[in-house]
Amino acid sequence: MRELPGASLQKACRLLVVFCIIHLLAVFFYYLSGSTLTFQWSSEPSPRGPAPTRREPLAVAVLSTNLSKPDVDCPDLSPLLVGPLRIEFSQTVNLKDVAAENPEVREGGRYTPKDCKALQKVAIIIPFRNRDEHLKYWLYFLHPILQRQQLDYGVYVINQDGEETFNRAKLLNVGFTEALKEYDYDCFVFSDVDLIPMDDRNTYKCYQQPRHLSVSMDKFGFRLPYTQYFGGVSALSKEQFQNINGFPNNYWGWGGEDDDIYNRLVFKGMRISRPDAAIGKCRMIRHSRDNKNEPNPQRFNKIAQTKETMKSDGLNSLTYKVVKTEKLPLYTKLTVDIGSPKS
Ligand code: BGC
Repeated sequence: MRELPGASLQKACRLLVVFCIIHLLAVFFYYLSGSTLTFQWSSEPSPRGPAPTRREPLAVAVLSTNLSKPDVDCPDLSPLLVGPLRIEFSQTVNLKDVAAENPEVREGGRYTPKDCKALQKVAIIIPFRNRDEHLKYWLYFLHPILQRQQLDYGVYVINQDGEETFNRAKLLNVGFTEALKEYDYDCFVFSDVDLIPMDDRNTYKCYQQPRHLSVSMDKFGFRLPYTQYFGGVSALSKEQFQNINGFPNNYWGWGGEDDDIYNRLVFKGMRISRPDAAIGKCRMIRHSRDNKNEPNPQRFNKIAQTKETMKSDGLNSLTYKVVKTEKLPLYTKLTVDIGSPKS
């Protein structure tokens, strides 16, 4: 017998109702079971009409896991900041404990906020040799601060191989180059291993102008030693760094390279931005002078010539060899051969 047209419509409607009930039950089940699954509302404008003035939930919620990237930007000022911090170096630091206390820091010292999309991707570059005790303090204090600052960051320790005279600025150039091979960082914070900020509102990120972050160090009586001082901790965007051809490669030994960097920035028409003196307070871990990092007697001569030398000495003349790469729980350690003053 042939089915009447009205009967097949009735059948289709019944099927649709059954489907809807099953769907609602499934959604309800996830809700009641307190599953880690979350609802994500689509931010796509509706193809059927003008974009809504506020985000409208889709008729059918899309289930997605917590692993998906948040689509809400982090605020300019993180609500997690606490302000002034007590920084002391009396306790001993165990890196296993530090890793356990920072479970969201991933291998290699990477962190990405999970509740919002970080405004900047920041590579923190630390020039290094034989300062493991200082590095422990740095990791212990900085990881919680950087997470509260809601940065998408990675920590890169650039360890100078061998016994040649130390070259801070060249190690920083290497850090910039190597970090960019790993991730699309847009900001670079260059930090000495022995400097710890005393206020988490001193955000380790980049600004319209190159940023000097360590503006009031205990070592200098919590003030700048001189107006042009750009040493300690500084932040440059990828574009700012490339604009000055990176840092100089041939300042071997202590001193002068930060003044050369300052000159480069000024010669390219940039100004230095700084936090105010209270927010920019930081402590330096006391230490005796390192071997093979004696004051560089040529530094005064060199900084008088930055305008010329910066064209040919920098990123465009950088040579080095990565000897070893270690992805450790709280940082990436790159041991590099950067040659010697004669090479
Ligand atoms: C050096 C800089 C150093 C500053 C503060 C200057 O004479 O050239 O490299 O950062 O003193 O110690």
